This record gives sequence, C-alpha cells and structure tokens, in this order.
Amino acid sequence: MELPPYYTSLAPFRKLFQTGLPILTWHSLGPRPRGARIKGLYLSTGLFRRQLEELRAAGFHSTPLPRRDSDLSQPARIVLTFDDGCRNVFELGLPLLRETGFRAVQYLVANLIGRTSEWQAREGGVAEPLMDAAQIRDWLAAGQWIGSHTCTHPWLTHLPPDRAREEITASRKKLEDQFGVPVRDFCYPYGDFDPRLRDLVAEAGYQSAVTTQAGVNPPGTDRLALRRFTARYASRRLRDLWLRLRAAWRTGAIRLVGLSAGTPRPVRGFRSNQPHPPGAQKR
Ligand SMILES: [Zn+2]
Repeated sequence: MELPPYYTSLAPFRKLFQTGLPILTWHSLGPRPRGARIKGLYLSTGLFRRQLEELRAAGFHSTPLPRRDSDLSQPARIVLTFDDGCRNVFELGLPLLRETGFRAVQYLVANLIGRTSEWQAREGGVAEPLMDAAQIRDWLAAGQWIGSHTCTHPWLTHLPPDRAREEITASRKKLEDQFGVPVRDFCYPYGDFDPRLRDLVAEAGYQSAVTTQAGVNPPGTDRLALRRFTARYASRRLRDLWLRLRAAWRTGAIRLVGLSAGTPRPVRGFRSNQPHPPGAQKR
C-alpha cells in the first residue's frame, strides 16, 4: 500500500510502525499567521490532540531518541519531536502533552533563545516567537526534552567546514551550559546533511541526529541519520480543492451542475497559485 507523504492519523502507518522506531515531527501549533510561506508547518491544536489521543489509545508510549541499536526494536514506542523551539508549542502543546502523558523533544536554535525564527523571515516567511530561557526550564521541569538545532539554523552543507563544526559543537555546549542538562540529540536544519556533516555530528559527541527523510527506523539504522514523518493535516490537494470550489461557488464563478444532463460549464478561477480564500487559515 502506498503511504501518504505526511502523518495525519495512525491507520495507514500502523503496520509500518511495527517494523522500526517511528519518529514524528511537528513545527508550530495553532493558527497560521498571515504571510506564512510554508503552510504545512502549522497544525491546529484540535488535530494535535486527536493525534496524541489516538496514539495513546493504540498503546504507544513516548521514548527518548535512541542510544543503542536495541532501542530501535522496542514495541509500541514512538519519538515525538518539534523543530525550532516555537513558543506556541510551549503555550498550546505542553498542556496537551501533559494531559495525554506524552513527552517530546524540542530542537532549539541556541543563539535565538527568546527571540524569533529569523531565518524564516530571511526566506520571505513569517518569524515565529521562540521559547525563552524560563519557558525552556518549565518545559524541562515538565519532563520534556531538548536537543540542538544548531546556533543559527543555517543550511549546513553550504557552510565551510569550520563554520559548520562551530554550529554543531557550540550549540550543544551553549544549551548544556544554560540549562544544565546533557544535550545528546541533534536535528539538521532543513534536513540538510551529507556524510561530512554526519561525521562532524559524531565528533561533537551527539548520540542521535534526525533528518527530514520519511520512514521508520528499523534495527541497523544509522542513529545519526534517523528518518521521520512530518505530522500535518490531511491531504492538502483535497483540502485545497474543497476551499477553491467553495470560494469559486461564493463568488459565482461556478454553479452547481448537479445531476442534470448537459455539458458542465468550465470552472473559472481554478489555478493552483490562487491565493487562499478567507477562512482558509482556520483549521
Ligand atoms: Zn528547523
């Protein structure tokens, strides 16, 4: 069976999750701000809650990132991860994690604690507020985990080796010094990595590193190149189709053809680059 490219609900993944350690990843929770460039980075708290409750009902427990090969073959274990350290995850996600008994890893950008996701603004998107030091302490005190997502969120393969090493090594030291916990888990920004970077991550003493390649992690997987599924809402194509149809219907660009005989009128205003109609941001 062909798998959906994203994780929305457990059913299509149930069998696959028995073959290796599944790792899910989210970015932001709550309403998507106007101008957000990558729409899939935002998930409603309602869907997030349903996803956690479904995993709990299916008997899944969260586990830390793997430290040894045998960690990849434990039944009904799942790793929940958040990239970037967004404040909305602390405000909206932590209560739901608590309520459902799950624990998650926040991959933090060490130089941007308490600031914003400046790299998203640089790329033409919207900068999200990031957790500050007090919130990260609360996050840890609530039994959640942290990992490193570099110092500044660069494309690591574009950097000279010395700067890439600095991003990987200094971020770990800064987080450990500031929060007094060991930091053993790394996340490649944009999933951008190659064998050279993997070796720098090993050299820096990390015990796990996650990518954005889709899949589970059966025994024997390289723990410094772990695969993950991105969790997001269901099929964008179907949802967008519905939203465009609804907008076109409202503006009178289309009329219901129904079951009557005859040739349907061509549907106007049906371009894939059409801006989202009002209401599209609500999920
Ligand atoms: Zn990131």
